[in-house]
Amino acid sequence: MMNGRSCGRLSQTTLLAAFGVAGWIFCEAPPPVVAPVEVRRAFVEEPPEPNYLELKADILREFSGAKPGRFGQFVRGVYRKMDTTQKVLAFTFDACGGPGGRGYNAGLIDYLRKEKIPATLFITGQWIDENPSIFKQLASDPLFEIENHGLRHRVCSIDGETKYGVVATRDVGDVVDEMELNARKIARLTGRRPVFFRTATAYTDETCARIAKRLGMEIVNYDVFSGDAEPFAPAATLQDNVLRAARGGAIVLMHFNHPRWNEKEALTAIVPILREKGYSFVKLEDFSLLDRKSASTK
Ligand SMILES: [Zn+2]
Repeated sequence: MMNGRSCGRLSQTTLLAAFGVAGWIFCEAPPPVVAPVEVRRAFVEEPPEPNYLELKADILREFSGAKPGRFGQFVRGVYRKMDTTQKVLAFTFDACGGPGGRGYNAGLIDYLRKEKIPATLFITGQWIDENPSIFKQLASDPLFEIENHGLRHRVCSIDGETKYGVVATRDVGDVVDEMELNARKIARLTGRRPVFFRTATAYTDETCARIAKRLGMEIVNYDVFSGDAEPFAPAATLQDNVLRAARGGAIVLMHFNHPRWNEKEALTAIVPILREKGYSFVKLEDFSLLDRKSASTK
């Protein structure tokens, strides 16, 4: 049984006769027809990624019996600052998707382009599906780094713990779906696999951070809380929060999916002040990162 549905395994003989491949597991719906492995290999430069269900099964085995550990924004394994004291600062912007979250702050993105400010965009699979052409434009702009905000914008937890009433992943399998399916979606659309992951609400448990690492991603939160997630927070509040906490290597968290919020207005004031102080702006992928413990000593 898988997810309460009736599942079965086709015999190797049947499969060989039908598709020329072996080991297909199916649940109710018939398996999709896939090209034989020999043909697929002819079209890719690298060996194909492991089959998704096999990868998921491996991780379920590896994490069987795991306890969630602490739940929070800055638990063990979560990164929050770049490993540098140079006067550089990374602006990161989330796009969450779904009801109330599928918008696009074009004015903000235009401002970043006009000022040539690089930024790291954490985007959900949901938002990509809601804004396919905008996503394509963002992904093809070298100013922006596209990272993973989850397939369906779930709080990350292996036992359903949540925050602010946002739906959470319920188990390890859910966590793998949330992280890996969106990583593959972004890789397929952009040609670059994300290396960072941020959960919905930025809350996670420690085991999710280990699962992310197992999938080749690091969970990244923030060093500077802008406060923009409070709907319609005034630009002056965002400006105070960012300027007060800015330091070399800081990671700032904001959003670009609410056209009527005040991030652009705040940045219009923040950016010239930081530039005056000698700061420049970078993408996360340009630096290695520090977790809470290391970040507090730097
Ligand atoms: Zn979000």
